[in-house]
Amino acid sequence: MTETPHRPPSGWDSDAQGHLRLGSETIERLAERLGTPFYAYDSARIARRIAELRAELPAGLALHYAIKANPHPPLLGYLAERVDGFDVASKGEMQSALTAGMPAAHTSFAGPGKRDDELAAAVQAGVLVNVESAGELARLARIADAHKRPARVALRVNPPYELKSSGMRMGGGARAFGIDAEQIPGLLRAWNGQTLHFEGLHLFAGSQCLKVDALLDTFAANLALAAQLLAHAPTPARIINLGGGFGVPYFPGEAPLDLPRLGEGLRHHWNEWQPRLNAAQGVLELGRYLVAEAGVYVTRVVDRKHSRGETFLICDGGMHHHLALSGNLGQVLRKNWPLVVANRLGQPNAETVHLHGPLCTPLDILGSKLPLPRAEPGDLIAVFQSGAYGPSASPGAFLGHPAAAEILL
Ligand SMILES: *Cc1c(COP(=O)(O)O)cnc(C)c1O
Repeated sequence: MTETPHRPPSGWDSDAQGHLRLGSETIERLAERLGTPFYAYDSARIARRIAELRAELPAGLALHYAIKANPHPPLLGYLAERVDGFDVASKGEMQSALTAGMPAAHTSFAGPGKRDDELAAAVQAGVLVNVESAGELARLARIADAHKRPARVALRVNPPYELKSSGMRMGGGARAFGIDAEQIPGLLRAWNGQTLHFEGLHLFAGSQCLKVDALLDTFAANLALAAQLLAHAPTPARIINLGGGFGVPYFPGEAPLDLPRLGEGLRHHWNEWQPRLNAAQGVLELGRYLVAEAGVYVTRVVDRKHSRGETFLICDGGMHHHLALSGNLGQVLRKNWPLVVANRLGQPNAETVHLHGPLCTPLDILGSKLPLPRAEPGDLIAVFQSGAYGPSASPGAFLGHPAAAEILL
């Protein structure tokens, strides 16, 4: 048993009673006000992350937010005023983006399998469509023709490479996403300029990457591929979406991205290639990097029990709100996230426990074999790095428990 005092990750602090501070409140006050479980997103942290990024990005590279990372409406309203555009992946997300105040001119719509009604809604709203196949391009042309309104189009490219060291690969090889780079010149040469307004290219090769060199290699490769493909464009491109994939550290041993080094490389590659892009606007499209570290998931201990020599804390929150925390349905080797007993900070770690949610499945795990202060029913558990892919990416209907409250602080 260790005697290490119980502390939150660096950057978070507590009051004199050892209660975690969230924004200008303590976690106890928020839990009383909202009930548990809840998600809190700290807007000041999001603003700081955007400011740090902007200080490093090359001038001429715009910053977009992929709203699937966290579509909480107040958070979208907050971000609509602080980033240059939103990227959406369904008609529902498109409506959320527009409702949040992002102009259609700065909204783009990607995703395989867009239905006719989704394409029609994008044409009517004047949202840029990132087209994912030759078939979708033909359907979009028919729909734009029927609406007597040209569609704004970027072609999503499936590059002949992938983002290395990424948690989720979305380019390279045979993919459901984008159009193989080899097919793009033919599509551009046969362009139907009557109904399709060519605006540019979209290159997104992967996600959750913590390796600066891998991100920079992909960024440079995307620029080179864009410059090569644009030689076939019917009209000059207005926008080149160069993807993102910036990761956040979730587990012990993972280090945050070295942003100054990443920024230096991005500026170097951008300055080299920008003259060959005919004045097109470059875009970086980020999801979790903007919001994950600003979010905390809070759940209350309901029961404490012993089973054959081990101690379990059973909580009121679990995988129905936070699938990633539980290990994504057991598909990957589950690792513990950074979490604390948020009303016992500064107390010594006194025992090793398992944290479990309320669902009747062995998969509903919040933490295994964690050293914590002795916690009792009523205590609060705070899970960090929880601002992205939370409630909207979890099986909320599974077992019929209430939804988690969400609040932007
Ligand atoms: C999911 C997705 C993103 C966001 O990914 P993060 O890992 O959250 O940054 C960006 N662009 C596209 C096309 C996506 O599908």
